[in-house]
Amino acid sequence: MLCLGIETSCDETALALVRDGVVIADVMSSQADVHALFGGVVPELASREHYRLIGALCDEVLRRAGVTAADIDVVAVARGPGLLGSLLVGMGFAKGLAPATGARLVGVNHLHAHLLAAGIVAEMAYPALGLLVSGGHTHIYRMESPRRMFLLGRTLDDAAGEAFDKVAKQLGLAYPGGRTIDELGRKGRVNPTMFPRPYVDNDNLDFSFSGLKTAAGLVVQANPALIEAARAVADGSVDMVGSANGAPDQAQPDVSSLCDMCASFNHAVADTLRIKLERALARENGPLPGTPTVAARKKRKKSGAVAADASQAASPCPPTVPEHAALAAHAGQGGQVPDTHRVPVRALVAAGGVAANSYVREALGDLAGRAGLPLLLPTPALCTDNGIMVAHAGWRLASLGLGHDLALEAIPRGRSIPDDFTMFRSV
Ligand code: ATP
Ligand code: MG
Ligand code: FE
Repeated sequence: MLCLGIETSCDETALALVRDGVVIADVMSSQADVHALFGGVVPELASREHYRLIGALCDEVLRRAGVTAADIDVVAVARGPGLLGSLLVGMGFAKGLAPATGARLVGVNHLHAHLLAAGIVAEMAYPALGLLVSGGHTHIYRMESPRRMFLLGRTLDDAAGEAFDKVAKQLGLAYPGGRTIDELGRKGRVNPTMFPRPYVDNDNLDFSFSGLKTAAGLVVQANPALIEAARAVADGSVDMVGSANGAPDQAQPDVSSLCDMCASFNHAVADTLRIKLERALARENGPLPGTPTVAARKKRKKSGAVAADASQAASPCPPTVPEHAALAAHAGQGGQVPDTHRVPVRALVAAGGVAANSYVREALGDLAGRAGLPLLLPTPALCTDNGIMVAHAGWRLASLGLGHDLALEAIPRGRSIPDDFTMFRSV
């Protein structure tokens, strides 16, 4: 089965071809340079760029794979969530191409595609606990199958990637700045008390990163030298590999402070994600040795020991039933909660741009190790938006007999994606 994937949900025009799960070719045009001038994605410019490039990119991916459009069995397209104008370009193209070539149309949930990308390198084990941590979302899912994912927690305000990008913007670093903050942090030292672990002293699985973003903004405002150091790093006027241990040249003290601040910020985000994921894991599979209760966290916070929390005795988290019942309200994100929801999860999955972060990968690696579960992560390049994840998800869904007719709708950010597949016999 040859599946073409089309991704135009934000500022990457990306297409890929997957044959029976094997990636054959992919192309991508990032608009990051266009939007960097404005410090964030400008929706109309994004749509125009997709419209300008999509035809030539489709020709190119077919050429690289050595196939023709007539060979395509499935046209998979990211249907949302995303910028509506951008989605419509990919959707319009897919809706023309599929009937013209006799291929099946499959509308793919962009967030599910991110998570399913973890199954490209290693085989996915279901059920799994999935963290989707990207530019627009910070979601925890219970993943039952490529089609069925149940939302357990979500961000109440900024996504983790948004927090990275806004802090980078305050420092004057180019958009999107998450990767730069990751790289700078690697040259600094973590101060675990510099930043809070936001919204963890509760008993839910939701996130709130706006306070952490504000805390980092206040540190930047109080230290203009950090902005100067960031400018020097950005224009290449400091030597980032100045000393033998890879730390910046000590003659550049402000760069050291910048790196320390970035290290502490990376650590705070990774630790916050780890705390909530550990809580989710405790609810699905039972508590891990060393998971502190919410009460224990609060007590230790009062006594000043905020960040390190591995040494406290565990006690069971509250039972899952009321919360799972509440989840059914997120109908479009997965529908009814299945009877199987008490089967322990068999893997930990993380995906989305922030899952490329080295601190996040380490923190989740430690957590998975303590839980005795495999950690499935896409390669860093497949964490951010790409066409391969859409082609791969389309292939998985088409293999289950699923697809759409031409009434398929694009869904903008903020609205849930309906589970409105049509069953087909075979490709
Ligand atoms: P969504 O998938 O929620 O619609 P998106 O598609 O814009 O949002 P992605 O492409 O998955 O998001 O991820 C982009 C985000 O990932 C940006 O916020 C970027 O700064 C962040 N990011 C990328 N690499 C890293 C990294 N190494 N460390 C931290 N953040 C990173
Ligand atoms: Mg992008
Ligand atoms: Fe994305």
